[in-house]
Amino acid sequence: MKLIADTHTHSIACDHAYSTITENAKVASEKGIFAIAVTEHCPAMPDSPHIWHFECLGALPRKIHDVVILRGAEVNLLDFEGNLDLPEHILKKLEWVIVSAHGCCIKAGTIEQNNNAWLNVAKNPYVDVIGHCGLLDLPIDYEKVIPEFGKAGKLVEINVGSLYRGGQVYENNVKIAQLCAKHNVRVVVNSDSHYCGNLGNFEIALKLLSDINFPEELVINADVKRFTDYLVSRHGDIFGFGNLT
Ligand SMILES: [Zn+2]
Ligand SMILES: [Zn+2]
Repeated sequence: MKLIADTHTHSIACDHAYSTITENAKVASEKGIFAIAVTEHCPAMPDSPHIWHFECLGALPRKIHDVVILRGAEVNLLDFEGNLDLPEHILKKLEWVIVSAHGCCIKAGTIEQNNNAWLNVAKNPYVDVIGHCGLLDLPIDYEKVIPEFGKAGKLVEINVGSLYRGGQVYENNVKIAQLCAKHNVRVVVNSDSHYCGNLGNFEIALKLLSDINFPEELVINADVKRFTDYLVSRHGDIFGFGNLT
């Protein structure tokens, strides 16, 4: 399986990432990647860029180094009601919205409360991706929530950065992927790179998926047409993909 997009990347717009968007795009281009999403942390995180960053992403060209640039965000889940830290008027303009539970922005409750937090996120029409839910910040009942993500049309992230933590986090991701396969839930494999050299390094995730015979057709970023069809279904052809593919 070859992946054609990396839709979770950070740049120096966040203090704890170390490459520019242009450097990220250059590496993506060298690796034959069709598209990347610019997905910085949002205002509830101490290292996030000013909210104007998200309002002004239209300043970016559609392509850099011939790589399609999607204007996105890694939004924080704030509470069990599924509230997020970007306002609706910004969310609706973004092209790629990941929601993640980070321990600094939400404290875990009971499993039921945590499940409800994610189930409420799944109802949000602006959300594309359930981000790195294999991490331990907000333990959930995967058997219960993964099928609901699929029914709501959300993509479940297999996050490379978190897989390197190994142990329980890796095992959680195996379980998540198995449940996605069982319930026909689409996944997206992302590097979550904080340095350009890590962008597009998908090997550990591809091995995990191969080990469990994960069906390639459920990997949204394993095929350019599958990926662009998804984007056009969400936003219309604002990307001009008719000329690109
Ligand atoms: Zn994250
Ligand atoms: Zn991230």
